[in-house]
Amino acid sequence: MADIRLEDVGHSYDGGRTWAVRPMTWTWRSGRAYALLGPSGCGKTTLLNIMSGLITPTTGRVWFGEREVTSVPTAGRNIAQVFQFPVLYEEMSVYDNLAFPLRNRRYPKDEVDRRVRAVSRMLGLDAHLGRRSRRLDPGRQQIVSLGRGLVRSDVAAVLLDEPLTVVDPAIRWTLRSTLKEIHRDTGHTLVYVTHDQTEALTFADEVVVLKDGAIVQAGEPAELFLSPAHEFVGHFIGSPGMNTLPGEVADGLVRVGGQVVGRADEPLPAGPVRVGVRPEFARLGDGPGSPGLPAEVTAVDRMGAYDLVHVRAGGHPLVARAEAGSPYEPGAAEFVRFTGGRVFLFRDEVRCGQV
Ligand code: ATP
Repeated sequence: MADIRLEDVGHSYDGGRTWAVRPMTWTWRSGRAYALLGPSGCGKTTLLNIMSGLITPTTGRVWFGEREVTSVPTAGRNIAQVFQFPVLYEEMSVYDNLAFPLRNRRYPKDEVDRRVRAVSRMLGLDAHLGRRSRRLDPGRQQIVSLGRGLVRSDVAAVLLDEPLTVVDPAIRWTLRSTLKEIHRDTGHTLVYVTHDQTEALTFADEVVVLKDGAIVQAGEPAELFLSPAHEFVGHFIGSPGMNTLPGEVADGLVRVGGQVVGRADEPLPAGPVRVGVRPEFARLGDGPGSPGLPAEVTAVDRMGAYDLVHVRAGGHPLVARAEAGSPYEPGAAEFVRFTGGRVFLFRDEVRCGQV
């Protein structure tokens, strides 16, 4: 197995007027499990199809290790791809569907049997091996499709495009951890496309966030949550996402609504900034002492495990997280305090400092 390297790779469907994938240089490291995360239309599928060979990019070159594959069709790339909708031989049994990629690569018969049984056991398909795949419900068909993508050991990468969309949400949780387990066993390079942050964060070693055809941040799940490098990442990851308030920097001090909320960690030119703070790092407390703002409670969502307290702070709406059963009620005057080191400053959407 080898790294997959994209060198200035970009794709336009309309002769260069707009870019579904903006020219980018990026390496998918061998053996790692990646989630490619972003909203609908940001270019995830296009990028995946460039890697699989279904699309030849408008610009740039694709490398599998030392081998350039930019114009090599899918069949010559030795990858496994799992699509959003099951692609199965409907008249074949589940067993034969799972065995197909192995027989195609001339795996010995006993190895075929061993691998099919191992994958079906992990994915909970044992009881269905003899059934025709068209007789399965759509969720289970999708699981068989996933199994077909994972059954080979000798692939350069497994590319998964929203592979669990029609699977029952309760089963999806289990399947994601099964997928992790299979990844630990096989050491495949996995790229898993999703627009669902939970799916991305629970599954991946590294999450790559795509916006408007460009990678805005890549990192371990915790890093994206705790240290967003781009305003979009702060909003897209987390539920609810990061609060952003309009602020000002002057002489190193950061103000929101005229109130000082802290000192920037590095020198910044004076002027407007956007101040980002996650609900988890905005706490209501008794009076000043640490950086924060006077606030008025406007609503409280009792979520069961915790409360989300909506306030107006410095004249702006903000959500703070509180313990379940917190005493806050609409109309109350409070003080919202920010956790030091967890307040981020943005200019042109890119992080320029923190408080
Ligand atoms: P989704 O999650 O909705 O599948 P995505 O992030 O996978 O979205 P892409 O499907 O790669 O995004 O699409 C990126 C952009 O390219 C979108 O603006 C889309 O409309 C456009 N696009 C995708 N496929 C084509 C095509 N075959 N012809 C023209 N435009 C396309």
